[in-house]
Amino acid sequence: MLEDNISCQGNILVIDDRPENLRLLSVMLTKKGYTVRKAINGDLGIRAAYAVTPDIILLDINMPNIDGYEVCKKLKANPQTKQVPIIFVSALDQTLDKVKAFRYGASDYITKPFQIEEVSARIENQLSIRRLQETLETKNRELERINLQLQQEIHSRSAAENELAKINQKLQTLATVDSLTQLANRYHFENFLAQEWKRMRREKSSISIILCDIDYFKLYNDNFGHQAGDICLQKVAQGISSQIRRPADLVARYGGEEFVVVLPNTNSEGALKVANNIRQTVQALKLDHPYSQISDVVTISLGVSSTIPNSDQSTGELLTIADQALYKAKKLGRNQAVLQLI
Ligand code: GH3
Ligand code: MG
Ligand code: MG
Repeated sequence: MLEDNISCQGNILVIDDRPENLRLLSVMLTKKGYTVRKAINGDLGIRAAYAVTPDIILLDINMPNIDGYEVCKKLKANPQTKQVPIIFVSALDQTLDKVKAFRYGASDYITKPFQIEEVSARIENQLSIRRLQETLETKNRELERINLQLQQEIHSRSAAENELAKINQKLQTLATVDSLTQLANRYHFENFLAQEWKRMRREKSSISIILCDIDYFKLYNDNFGHQAGDICLQKVAQGISSQIRRPADLVARYGGEEFVVVLPNTNSEGALKVANNIRQTVQALKLDHPYSQISDVVTISLGVSSTIPNSDQSTGELLTIADQALYKAKKLGRNQAVLQLI
């Protein structure tokens, strides 16, 4: 890394055991504008490199005690100096030595006697490689930082999306489910009926509905209280649901103490059967109702209507007929199902 106090030309460390070589290189390179430090043996060279990291090292191979290869090995093993390009300088001009030098991590090789232009060109070459490497490292670090930031953004975005999906799911539930009984609400029932009506019209198949109404429920409420009334509504809702088993069927809370069942692909005979099953099931719940005028327990009356939809009819008509059937069931004494066709 370039130090602030060092010339932009480059800070060069020359390690050579021969003072005349040191002097010669130092004079030549200083003239070229480089900042030059000198070390007379391998140990001092290593220390100098650790003290201030040079931009480049010119390293003699043949030195007493610790030779150039060893110095190179040590510098390459230290994280602080391992990136510094090392140019070996030697009188030895044999292929084997060059190969060895590169194996130890040298960047280049200059043989003595040297021409200053060649030395300078090789130094410049290494310095520009090093500068390019530094630029690349900076860019890479920047990219890593941006990448991390992006990942964090993606993470928090998907967390927000999950949260939103949960809220949407909750809203959807609130919009379509009756909070007391957990059955579909009236809004959902109307959409569902319209959709199934069209489907049955296309398929030329029967659609049936059953309107269920608790008998003498006002008396139940008035005597047991509204809270007990609510619990009774929940139990009746569960009783009705237990008899609806096809996935295409729907049970909804129609209003107050009234429930409605939609049965696609079901004719009047089948619907009447389901209605009677529901009636029996509710009665079998044995919910005490001493104030009912027709039984000791809670009972329901049911109006059933059925048709194969055609373009002259509407869902409204089907509901009106079911309501008339329910009224008849009440009139006939309650706790019964009555079928009426369009
Ligand atoms: P019928 O046998 O003719 O159906 O008589 P009924 O008393 O059941 O009918 P009515 O329409 O006169 O009374 C319905 C009662 O249902 C009125 C109210 O006390 C009760 N009710 C309606 N909605 C709720 C509710 O959400 N919770 C409770 N606890 N009671 C409700
Ligand atoms: Mg009613
Ligand atoms: Mg009622």
